[in-house]
Amino acid sequence: MKTRLLTLITLVTTSCANLPYQTTSSKCLFPIDSAYLGGLINYSLDVDEIDSEERLELEDLTFATCKSGSKLLILAPVPLAYPEKKVQLTLSNKVIASIKIADKSYRESRIEIQNNNFVNPSEVTQKRIKKEYTLGQKAKNTFTREEVKQVMMDKPLKGIISSEFGVKRFINGQPRNRHIGLDIAASEGTPVQVPLAGNIILSDNFFYKGNVVYIDHGDGLVSSYSHLSSRAVDVGQVVSSGEVLGFVGSTGRVTGPHLHWEVFYLGIPINPEIFLKIKY
Ligand SMILES: [Zn+2]
Repeated sequence: MKTRLLTLITLVTTSCANLPYQTTSSKCLFPIDSAYLGGLINYSLDVDEIDSEERLELEDLTFATCKSGSKLLILAPVPLAYPEKKVQLTLSNKVIASIKIADKSYRESRIEIQNNNFVNPSEVTQKRIKKEYTLGQKAKNTFTREEVKQVMMDKPLKGIISSEFGVKRFINGQPRNRHIGLDIAASEGTPVQVPLAGNIILSDNFFYKGNVVYIDHGDGLVSSYSHLSSRAVDVGQVVSSGEVLGFVGSTGRVTGPHLHWEVFYLGIPINPEIFLKIKY
């Protein structure tokens, strides 16, 4: 009986929807609401609507909360392939808001890659890709409880957007993963600057990403910079906004020199443009 009860408790605990992550931010200067596929829900509640004992849930979406004065922000990254058109915010199972998720018509991109090893990698290369994928997964899911005073970012470099976030890609006619970054084209060797302070958690050379750097900005906000010609930072280094982290290049799977920039919030890739202080 005791064992059964314990099992039941464990099941209840593990089957609970994602509990909100409470940010350490005191000012809650997060981007404005962009509730669309690949965007970020920023929904505001009055604190006195909530009893601290009550449980907030947003269906199956992972989210964070940030308390600022009399407001509580609900911050939820929306996965690109999220199937629902709206999501209900519940407080101890009672619906308190229904948040609409807008569709976004992302374009298709078809590219041709001649180097067969990048299209159909060998078994040895596949092993390497798997290992690097695991390292990338670990990096993007980094949660450091460190106060992020503000999350808005500077442009990492001057250049034109050559491929937007979310594009549906086909390589040599075959459907591939969605484009979860923003491509900024610039000439080889252009410096790439840290857009927001943080810690370098990964600096390596990957098969697809080429020379890549990951920055942990704290509180579940992580960014990455791929295809660099060279890296100028090491793991464990603390970097400030404006510092050079590397240089634009064409390492890894590319068709020309550019920066592939990814931003993850709570482990989910979202459109980096949402975080730009000044829009392109
Ligand atoms: Zn890209």
